[in-house]
Amino acid sequence: MRGEEKEKRKRGEKGGEGASQKGRILQKKIRKLPFPEVFLTGRGVIHSIREDLEEEGFYFENPVVATGPGFTKRFGELFYHHFVVEHASWEEVKRFKRFIEKNRNDLIVGVGGGRVLDVSKLAGGETGIPFLSVPTTLSNDGIYSPVAVISFEDGIKSVQTELPLGIVIDVEVIKSAPGIYLLAGVGDLIANMSALKDWELAESEGREKLERIAYLISRDAVESFVEFASNGYDVHSPIFIERLSDGLLASGISMAIAGTSRPASGSEHLISHALDEILEKPLPHGIQTGMATLFTECLRGEDISLLKKTMEKLGFPASPEEVGIKKETFLKAVELGPETRKGRFTILDITGRKEWEEAYKKAFE
Ligand SMILES: [Zn+2]
Repeated sequence: MRGEEKEKRKRGEKGGEGASQKGRILQKKIRKLPFPEVFLTGRGVIHSIREDLEEEGFYFENPVVATGPGFTKRFGELFYHHFVVEHASWEEVKRFKRFIEKNRNDLIVGVGGGRVLDVSKLAGGETGIPFLSVPTTLSNDGIYSPVAVISFEDGIKSVQTELPLGIVIDVEVIKSAPGIYLLAGVGDLIANMSALKDWELAESEGREKLERIAYLISRDAVESFVEFASNGYDVHSPIFIERLSDGLLASGISMAIAGTSRPASGSEHLISHALDEILEKPLPHGIQTGMATLFTECLRGEDISLLKKTMEKLGFPASPEEVGIKKETFLKAVELGPETRKGRFTILDITGRKEWEEAYKKAFE
């Protein structure tokens, strides 16, 4: 049974109390490659998860499927145990943990959007059982990453946890997601372009060390995606869904290798975090980060014509104003951005109001 082997490997990695000093040094140097053990993609694959896992050498006796309360609820029938995630809070993670312990589940199959995946990911980390990520939309790079966004009593936080055991992309399921969420996925992937330049900047300022492999994986993910997408596609077409999920998966892997969200999150994410705080009704995360990427790229003096044309061809909103965000509100978010994550050095730290006005004009007017 491969599952048992995996458990052993996991324990070895962490090192028990008896681990020797030498062993500890080795463990520090050798990192497990953060690649999915299972990567299933295609039409209808959601209905054959159990068989496909067995084919890959994994046998689970008692999986639990987690879904949201809305349209994903119908997937609750995939396995005997079904847990409905009501909200993305730490309370909910604890409730799910109790459910898993009571039912002695040995695998979490999380079917849904960000909320379900984040709660499932953390419940997996808390109980020590593997989590299989089955996104029903591709709105951000959290579909395969060791980071979960969850609300605590004192606010929303990003929590580092274990990587999913694997990922299942059912093209048929994702096809039914509203276009805006697929565009959000595009925006979150395109953000890597900006994030990588901020990472380089932080390194050149001697503030951070750039992790080369993570950098290259993230760069290749975004560049090859933009090249592909520049032809213009229907975001619901199977080929587009596959390429977008490949890019977001690579993005998650790059973050896991780097041990930080740096390869996929820079100034454009800071602006989006600030928009989350300012706007009464924030837009999907990836729409905000994608839009902010056009701005930060102009701030760096980059030529965004290909990027802009590509995004427009896909149907991505062309400016903040088009989605109801006033210029002043956007620039306020630029100003407040660095406050949302202190210590993350980006282009916003070395520019000011005058440059921001100019960049806004270039990007959106
Ligand atoms: Zn993001």
